[in-house]
Amino acid sequence: MIEKTQSPILRVDDLRVAFGARKKWTEVIHGVSFDVNPGETVALVGESGSGKSVTAMSILGLLPPGQARIEGNIIFEGREIPQLSPDEMRRLRGGDIAMIFQEPMTSLNPVMTCGNQIAESLAIHRGLDTRAARAETLRLFDRVRISDAERRFSDYPHNLSGGMRQRIMIAMSLACKPKMLIADEPTTALDVTIQAQILSLVKELQEDEGMAVLFITHDMGVVAEVSDRTVVMRNGDLVETGTTADIFRAPKAGYTRSLLSAVP
Ligand code: ADP
Ligand code: MG
Repeated sequence: MIEKTQSPILRVDDLRVAFGARKKWTEVIHGVSFDVNPGETVALVGESGSGKSVTAMSILGLLPPGQARIEGNIIFEGREIPQLSPDEMRRLRGGDIAMIFQEPMTSLNPVMTCGNQIAESLAIHRGLDTRAARAETLRLFDRVRISDAERRFSDYPHNLSGGMRQRIMIAMSLACKPKMLIADEPTTALDVTIQAQILSLVKELQEDEGMAVLFITHDMGVVAEVSDRTVVMRNGDLVETGTTADIFRAPKAGYTRSLLSAVP
């Protein structure tokens, strides 16, 4: 294997996050460090409550400043995320970093057609006119294997199945040609067969578009399916990191072994 000499696209360095206000702070992330290299998929895994989503929200600059305190550093392409203004952060989220969550319904506008949401995003972020935005939206629908794209364009989110909504969200996330995708349990709410389809879609897109992906899941089966490297978290601590192959072959921590024993 060729050794990667490039520097990471994302570096999480001794991240500590506490929630609270004034003098009462409760730390929930206790010094977590990991890197994501360009074009690589890293799985962030751990049971519910281990701090995966808080880590993602910290990277995305989505924690409410008054209620959350971030220490340590998060560096995306040389930029220190905790130092960015809300405006710069918004531009980053609509540009080089995209995200998808467990329930796309909360991220989609219920009163706008799926097609128009993506087209609008293309108009804002890539300056496309109405015609070009529509054409590009249909191309993106095709890209995420939505058949019958013309009809789906005029569907509202609530008319679609969970799996279809997640495809729409993925199409939306691709609209800004991100360098990195952060996916927080994007398949957890879906039926097993649909899960598998969405996972293979994410994998295919990652390979074709060369994006880096931080894939958050509580499911080691999913980890095996998608990731090059794995970061295991438990109760706000980093348990271990390694290549996914090594973690499956020879997990160092008892906790990782217990997660693995749950994989059928
Ligand atoms: P995971 O995504 O791994 O299930 P989370 O990152 O959501 O875990 O949560 C990690 C810990 O942080 C949990 O103990 C949770 O209760 C706590 N937490 C998350 N969000 C907040 C918040 N806004 N205020 C206070 N505590 C929070
Ligand atoms: Mg979570």
